Amino acid sequence: MTRSYQYCGPAELSHMPNPLPSRNQIRQRADAEAWIAAQHLGSGKHQQLTATFIIDQAAQLWLADQRSEHVVCARGAAVLAAGEITFSVEAKCLVGCELTNQSTGYCPEPASWAVVQQVLDSIGLPHAGAWTTSYEFRRCPACAMLNLIKEQWFFCAVCDHELPQQWNCARG
Ligand SMILES: [Zn+2]
Repeated sequence: MTRSYQYCGPAELSHMPNPLPSRNQIRQRADAEAWIAAQHLGSGKHQQLTATFIIDQAAQLWLADQRSEHVVCARGAAVLAAGEITFSVEAKCLVGCELTNQSTGYCPEPASWAVVQQVLDSIGLPHAGAWTTSYEFRRCPACAMLNLIKEQWFFCAVCDHELPQQWNCARG
């Protein structure tokens, strides 16, 4: 079963700016190529472009500027996946996509790759079959701080309390 993730980050980052920054739905490969073409590419032959992505509850892929909060890209709604996507571009052609689940707003589990792969395959975007880098997030049971787990260190960065092995980031 596919889990959907509600925003679980700091409340102050979840306010919708006015006007809302643009986001782009990627329905087909040409949409991704059009998004890439609209960015300010340098002159080198090999380019990499990173964007914020979310997959909404209708399994639709949306991109926004890398500096955008995932929750703004999702317009405040729950998501099936969120993270960063890096497009590799050779001589203006899209040749690969690298993805991570790094979203401290939604803290999606690495298992959300399954829906990401389905969506990328249906759009026809090339990928490596797995996250390039995957992250584990946990909420501290003692102080409620959201932690990004590094090197299997399951202790809170703020208060040193032990963090659970199971995903627990949803608001209580
Ligand atoms: Zn703590």
